[in-house]
Amino acid sequence: MASILITGGAGFIGSHLAEAFLARGDQVAVIDDLSTGRFENIAHLTNHPAFRFAIADIRDRIVLDRLASEADVIVHLAAAVGVKLVVEKPVHTITVNVMGTEAVLEAALRYRCRVLITSTSEVYGKGIGVPFREEDDVVLGPTSKSRWSYAASKMVDEFLGLAYWREYGLPVVPFRLFNTVGPRQTGRYGMVIPRFVAQAVLQRPITVYGDGSQQRCFCDVSDVVRAVVGLADHLDAPGQVYNVGSQEEISILDLAERVKHLTGSSSTIQFVPYDQAYAPGFEDMRRRVPDISRVQALLGWQPRLSLDEILLNVYQYIVEKDLAATFLT
Ligand code: UDP
Repeated sequence: MASILITGGAGFIGSHLAEAFLARGDQVAVIDDLSTGRFENIAHLTNHPAFRFAIADIRDRIVLDRLASEADVIVHLAAAVGVKLVVEKPVHTITVNVMGTEAVLEAALRYRCRVLITSTSEVYGKGIGVPFREEDDVVLGPTSKSRWSYAASKMVDEFLGLAYWREYGLPVVPFRLFNTVGPRQTGRYGMVIPRFVAQAVLQRPITVYGDGSQQRCFCDVSDVVRAVVGLADHLDAPGQVYNVGSQEEISILDLAERVKHLTGSSSTIQFVPYDQAYAPGFEDMRRRVPDISRVQALLGWQPRLSLDEILLNVYQYIVEKDLAATFLT
């Protein structure tokens, strides 16, 4: 039995991770400021004897220190997330991502915790060498475009984590999440699948940004959780970055059509130019496919759920909880 601290544990991925650790008998503490996380995501865990919860910013060093002192492993998920939020609030993105990770690593070092740092496929920037391998060079856009601040901030997180490993021998495992989907992900921060499903449920136009030829691979949160738990456990994981994601590629236009079909919706498909959807000069990534051979070699991990299963789960979740309207505000 281990003691796990999850920063951002009231978020979409964090709450699923908390459930997984609790289910196998670990102690779980969550720190979350409920900025994008939601109490409802973890409300059902609050009576569990092995679960604790602190509403605090991860930069609150007193709270973080106390929780880290009791943890064997810290899974650091708390971050400014979602391209929409990043474009709208660049100062917040940079400071939370960089200073938050610094605070977590400092606290982890004090108590020799193992640390998993969540990074993102955004760090591959404009890379065109599909699939993306962890050791690939990266090309980011200029600093005048806010979007790239997210990738740059996450790269600093990775650099910092790997530096703690090299300089202090702290066991740090940075992992890059590719598009991750599932119940509890909200459409409010721009994520495409909850938005498309909500639009389809409400029979509103499904908004495809650009011409819809950009492609993505979507991985179910339960598969991502299995990979993260595996990385948390494996003694040989630290000191390297790992891609975690699906390799089943689909264009966004095909995704819109798939959602429409699976939900039996009569929504139309509406093309929205990028500068209207985000900000003038917005640059999207054309394709984003992970090479997962590193995590596969270490853990034998690969995703189990297909895109259709993922879409049906999201659809059921949105309908059951009657969330469609709130996702589009
Ligand atoms: N997208 C879209 N319509 C929407 C929301 C997103 O066409 O209502 C597109 C977005 O431009 C991107 C893809 O869907 O090409 C995935 O967007 P998301 O924000 O989910 O993740 P990203 O891959 O950009 O991090």
